[in-house]
Order: sequence, then C-alpha cells, then structure tokens
Amino acid sequence: MNIHEYQAKQVLRRFGVEVPEGRVATTVEEALAGAQELGYPVVAKAQIHAGGRGKAGGVKVCRSASEVQAFVNNILGKPLVTHQTGPAGRVVRKVLLEPACAIAREFYLGLTLDRARGWLTFMASSEGGVEIEEVAARSPEKILREAVDPAVGVQSFQARKLAFGLGLPKETVGSFVTLVHALYRAYVETDASLVEVNPLVLTQDQRIVVLDAKMSFDDNGLFRHPDVRELRDTHEEDPREVEASQYDLNYISLDGNIGCMVNGAGLAMATMDIIKLFGGAPANFLDVGGGATKEKVTAAFKILLSDPNVKAVLVNIFGGIMKCDVIAEGVVAAAREVHLRVPLVVRLEGTNVELGKKILAESGLDIIPASDMADAGRKAVEAARRAAA
Ligand code: GDP
Ligand code: MN
Repeated sequence: MNIHEYQAKQVLRRFGVEVPEGRVATTVEEALAGAQELGYPVVAKAQIHAGGRGKAGGVKVCRSASEVQAFVNNILGKPLVTHQTGPAGRVVRKVLLEPACAIAREFYLGLTLDRARGWLTFMASSEGGVEIEEVAARSPEKILREAVDPAVGVQSFQARKLAFGLGLPKETVGSFVTLVHALYRAYVETDASLVEVNPLVLTQDQRIVVLDAKMSFDDNGLFRHPDVRELRDTHEEDPREVEASQYDLNYISLDGNIGCMVNGAGLAMATMDIIKLFGGAPANFLDVGGGATKEKVTAAFKILLSDPNVKAVLVNIFGGIMKCDVIAEGVVAAAREVHLRVPLVVRLEGTNVELGKKILAESGLDIIPASDMADAGRKAVEAARRAAA
C-alpha cells in the first residue's frame, strides 16, 4: 500500500524524523489560511500517489496569497499528469503547504529490502531530485549503499559513512545520523517496504531537511498497523481492484482484452502465459482463491465485465479442494445474473469434472467448453478476436 507525501511525513514524525511543519488543504480557502499561518514564502505541493510532480507543475514556491490562490485554484480537482501517472493522470484532491526553503544541494536517501542479500539496505546519492532508477542506469557508481544486519540494526558508523560519502558539511552529520536511525525504526516498526526521501536537502543555512517523503507498506503486515491502514486512499487505486479487495479476490488490471477467472496464483500465471502464447493479451490477473463460493464467482464476473476492454472471458478452474460441479453451478448462476455479453470459454479439471461439464452443457448458456489449457487458450484468443472484429 502506498500513501501520500503528507501522510508519510506524519508517520515519520512519530518516529522522531524532523519534517517541515505543513498544512494540508482541500480548498483554496484552506490553502490560503494554511499559508498565512506558515508565513511566506511557502511551497505548495499536489498530493497524488506519484512522483515527478515537480517537473509536471505540481510543486510551486509561492511568495504571496495571490500566487497560492492562482496555483491551488488551477490544480485542485484536476488530473495531474506526470511521467509516473500514465496519460490519464491522477486527480489532485489535496495540496500540502510547507515553509519554502532555500536549497543549497539535493540528495537522495532511501531504505528498502535488498532481496538478493536479504538485508534492508540504505541507498544514498548526491544526485537528489532525480529518480534513483535513472541514477542506477546512468551512473550506478553514484549510489552509496549500506546493508543493515538485522540482528543489530543500523549502526551510527554506517550513517556517518553515508554522510561523508555524500560530502555533507561536518555540522550536519549529527542530524543526518539521527535521521538514518529514525528512518530505520520507522521502516521496521511499520512493516514498510520502502522509505524514500528524495530530495533530502541541505539548505543554504546548513540544515538537513526532509523535503519529500514516500512510504510504501507490505500489505501482509497491515493487519498489525490499523493506524497505517487508515491512511489508505482508494481514490488512488484502480476502482476494480478496490472492489475486488472487498471480496478478498486477488485482482490486478492489465491492458489486454481477455478477462481471466482462475483459482490459484500459479494457475492464473500459467493462464496468462497460454493466452500470450496464442497471441492474445489478458485483461487482468484474477485468483478467486481456493474457497470460491457462488457469491465470489459472481462478484469476480461483475468486476471482469465492468472492464469495457474485455471481449471474451476465460474461466480456468482446477477443482481440488473445491468440486467442479460446485464451480460449474457458480459459473452458470453468475453468468445468468450478470447477463453475460461476451463469449465465455470454460475449462474445468479435477474432482467431479464430468458432472461439472454436464451442468455447463445443460445450462442453455452459450458456453464454449475447452478440454485442456492449450485448447482453452486458443479458444479464448479466437473468441476475443472475433468479438473485437
Ligand atoms: P516530486 O517531483 O513529485 O518528487 O516532488 P518533490 O517534493 O521532490 O519536489 C520536486 C522539486 O521541487 C524538488 O526537487 C525541489 O527542487 C523543488 N522544491 C520542493 N520544495 C521546495 C522548496 O521549499 N524550495 C525550493 N526552492 N524548491 C523546492
Ligand atoms: Mn521527490
């Protein structure tokens, strides 16, 4: 799960990270009041779950009320397109105001899991404000790394090594070390998967400031952190994914035109592969899970069909714990309830498969039965092609 910059700063503050005092506004009036309280100049920043706001015009230093008024009025309620949002952009619903600072240098500081090594690793770079992926591609030698032994946690000497590597002035090293410790604690204690400060700024009066902050969390750890879970902003998520999560379905939207309903993540991956093999493209990844009830199957169907790109549906289910006749009944009931408007290819295998096939055949629904994976993939791709033509 991702959260907004202003929320990440609030979380970090709880762990002793010094962050700028800010005001969050949802209207021009609130923005003006907030800026007045902070005192000019302020920086106004669009809050969306995407970076690249600076270059896209979503961040502005404002020297007066009329500048705040013009900027916030222009940006609120409208989509902001950055290189991370895709062409549709993300609607800006909140603006963060902070006292503007005079920047001398910008750095990058991030903490994430190095999966190859299995240790959390700090990354720091003197190329601040630039995406770390870009630095890694262009000049990897500019990224400093400190892997943290989980048995002892991050050590001050490691933080000092990063500070010296970045060339921070001596008088700021102490606060940088404090920052590194606090970021580490925040990461571990919230079950985060990423903490990123980009840029971390050295101001002209030689202070270290967390100018931007990003945090992502491990969804599997959220049950332990109700306070973090509350920060979820479903506006920032794909509406179909939000609905799927309410039914405990693992659903991810993709760009293709074949809607897939599958049980088991491995089978779902294999199904997407077989569609690709026959020249098609899946519209989604969907794992209905082991205990797919009729209600769950119906919900899954509705979500699949609400995608206007879907030209055919492929149901590929292995009846292991569940029996094929139960699945077939669920599929038939769901197809009737949602008034299926696209070709439906079904491949069933496993316990009671003959009974399941009989239920499908006698349903009177226009179902295209498939005998195996390859047959299912081929038929789904053909059906989608015909429907799209
Ligand atoms: P992002 O582009 O979405 O990552 O947004 P950031 O919060 O990182 O801001 C982008 C850029 O705006 C920064 O790299 C800074 O150069 C600039 N910026 C942000 N806040 C201030 C500020 O208080 N003063 C000045 N002078 N520039 C700022
Ligand atoms: Mn940034």
